[in-house]
Amino acid sequence: MRLKSIKLAGFKSFVDPTTVSFKSNMTAIVGPNGCGKSNVIDAVRWVMGESSAKYLRGESMTDVIFNGSRNRKPVGQASIELVFDNREGKLGGAYAQYAEISVKRVVTRDAQSSYLLNGSKCRRRDITDLFLGTGLGARSYAIIEQGMISRLIEARPEELRVYLEEAAGISKYKERRRETENR
Ligand code: ATP
Ligand code: MG
Repeated sequence: MRLKSIKLAGFKSFVDPTTVSFKSNMTAIVGPNGCGKSNVIDAVRWVMGESSAKYLRGESMTDVIFNGSRNRKPVGQASIELVFDNREGKLGGAYAQYAEISVKRVVTRDAQSSYLLNGSKCRRRDITDLFLGTGLGARSYAIIEQGMISRLIEARPEELRVYLEEAAGISKYKERRRETENR
């Protein structure tokens, strides 16, 4: 499974539709302070279902929408689309058969989020389920941010266990069991 591209529009500093393509297995994003490097990472976590504004360095969820600059008006919505190469069928369930998987999230000023999987409307849960057990996901270990290493070193055993369970691929089954028990 490989991230092929990110399409951003109206998200934070990316007001105009922008496509970032990842052509090889290693890509570095460089640029001066404040140019939007971290915004790209925020975009990836946001589209995978991050629901805490604080984790996206904002105060409310609509803070991800471009809020205007000296010569541009604010816009009404933000959208991000991730396109994955899924030829190995790692992104699973009913979608394992697709060679390419697109995951999209749109938020409007009234704070309504909608999610799309390969162009069809779906629930946030369908997106979080898709990534469960792959190491990807809004709060998983595929994205290692500043401060995360020291948080891991200092983590309590119960917190570390969550990462181990995700790496071992059992978090998916635990989540299903928890849901069944709560029914
Ligand atoms: P550094 O090297 O300092 O870490 P960076 O490249 O990671 O910088 P980001 O934090 O990604 O920079 O981008 C910050 C920029 O994004 C700021 O200029 C900020 O004004 C802009 N920004 C954030 N949210 C919005 C928004 N909702 N609308 C418009 N611009 C925004
Ligand atoms: Mg940064």
